[in-house]
Amino acid sequence: MYKILLFYKYVTIDDPEAFRDKHKELCSSLNLKGRIIVAKEGINGTVEGTENDTTQYMHIMSADPRFANMHFKISEGTGNAFPKLSIKARDEIVALKLGDEDFDPNTTTGKYISAEEFHKLINSNEEFYIIDMRNDYEHDVGHFEGSILPKMRTFRELPQCLPEIEHLKNKKVVTVCTGGIRCEKASGYLVLKGFKDVSQLYGGIVTYMETYPNQDFLGQLYVFDGRVVMGFNTDSQEHTTIGRCEHCRVHTNNYINCTNDECHKHYICCEQCLGENESIPCASCVSVHVN
Ligand SMILES: [Zn+2]
Ligand SMILES: [Zn+2]
Repeated sequence: MYKILLFYKYVTIDDPEAFRDKHKELCSSLNLKGRIIVAKEGINGTVEGTENDTTQYMHIMSADPRFANMHFKISEGTGNAFPKLSIKARDEIVALKLGDEDFDPNTTTGKYISAEEFHKLINSNEEFYIIDMRNDYEHDVGHFEGSILPKMRTFRELPQCLPEIEHLKNKKVVTVCTGGIRCEKASGYLVLKGFKDVSQLYGGIVTYMETYPNQDFLGQLYVFDGRVVMGFNTDSQEHTTIGRCEHCRVHTNNYINCTNDECHKHYICCEQCLGENESIPCASCVSVHVN
């Protein structure tokens, strides 16, 4: 029996390199595989191991006051979700690369809003705005109804995209992302930039979808593993497909990467447009060729 653990926490880690080295020893001794990033601002990881070893890991982590209340998302593993163990010390666990403007997400951040509270809010008459902090290609395949998407191809583009949402500074806004880690930093950034009423969806879209499958969220959820997209089907309901082929606009959830080496855009393309090819240039690269 294998389990996959997903976790993150914004908490000060004084010496990320030293932490990495010790943590490598711990994870190796527990035969865990996966990816962990540590930085001064916190930890972010996905690991797989036997039920016994992952339970041990959670025990040991919880005994450390820094990670005492860290939430672990546990799912079924296969035993080969990851080829190896990789633990890296980086500048940030989620890269915003603000440089001098950098802030501490442990102290500057929005308020948590639970899936239950968010569900209530959506079904109330209160004025509020959902800001999707994921990348544009993730939004394409599924999103909360009526959510606003700052056009980001990567999270680092948030500062450039700020003008698109600046008019919401004095409104109630709720930031959302897949599992919560990007929101936590994004909401901090909005607070830093003078947004007055910022909440962040705790546990992210994943938790919301598990609690309220097929409600308020259109399409499917983009995930960063072999599955690419995941639906939250209940027996009686089918999820809708809202993703569209960039070339012909037909509905599909099929992702490919642009073949142009200078672009490599991750985008949605249907089987028909692909034909015999494994991948083809994206729409903007095609039009460049034609001109
Ligand atoms: Zn097509
Ligand atoms: Zn391209």
